[in-house]
Amino acid sequence: MTTDEPPARKRYGQHFLHDPGVLERMVASLDPAPGDCFLEIGPGTGALTHMLLARVPHLHAVEIDRRLVAHLRLRYGPDRLSLLESDALRLDITALAATLGQRLRVVGNLPYNVSTPLLFHCLRHAGAVRDLHVLLQREVVLRMVARPSTPDYGRLTVTLAARASADSLFEVGPGAFRPPPQVRSRWVRLLPFETEPFPGAWDTAFPETVAAAFQKRRKTLANALLPLLPSEEIRSLGIDPQRRAETLGPDDYGRLARAVSRIRAAAGAKTPGPESS
Ligand code: SAM
Repeated sequence: MTTDEPPARKRYGQHFLHDPGVLERMVASLDPAPGDCFLEIGPGTGALTHMLLARVPHLHAVEIDRRLVAHLRLRYGPDRLSLLESDALRLDITALAATLGQRLRVVGNLPYNVSTPLLFHCLRHAGAVRDLHVLLQREVVLRMVARPSTPDYGRLTVTLAARASADSLFEVGPGAFRPPPQVRSRWVRLLPFETEPFPGAWDTAFPETVAAAFQKRRKTLANALLPLLPSEEIRSLGIDPQRRAETLGPDDYGRLARAVSRIRAAAGAKTPGPESS
């Protein structure tokens, strides 16, 4: 930390990168081209920002801590850095990409306390995001890229699989940050799918089905999904209802969720409206 840099604040999950070797690897994996439109989430004291600005003429960033916003504005003028003082969870990424006329490359050493909500916020704007490179807690990345029937496989894995492919690129130890966190981190690349593998999954019964299944991950599917889907419906999809929830692939959950939606729609159609009572 240079003397003019504000000290780290725990409540914003601040751990500032200072290892030039790690920063260079991160930027190399991004392979920035001058015309790329980057959005950095949580630029902090500007370690990654600085490296990126050596490769692209201009950058967009969103930072919640006003001390750091002031610090960065002293360092970079608006011609180099368009900096928004805001909670990234409130940023309309789709609107920003529409204004800029291109899909964004989102990057960030995400604050651990809100890393998963931030990730899913970005993926809700998947149509506006070309790719996403984020530094996350190692345990979260292991859950993102887990295979069925392994301990890390779960709700996060399946929910993510409906929106993007994930590739864990390399690990970063606590010594690369100031102050050092208590966990190891991984730099991960996410590529949002251009065509959704499970159409409608995001807005429909998919999250509910996945949540119900993994709440009882060691129980049979028939048991875990009892409130949502009768056993015979599960069987009719070619899925054995006696299987354990954690053994199913993301595509199986896509089919189960569509069945839940279909049954609900049919039940809704049969329910008499208020005017018929
Ligand atoms: N990018 C810097 C680096 O690598 O040194 C800082 C990373 S630090 C782990 C996380 C950054 O995200 C901090 O600057 C923090 O203030 C900011 N932050 C935390 N929550 C945020 C939110 N909801 N929206 C925007 N920025 C946030």
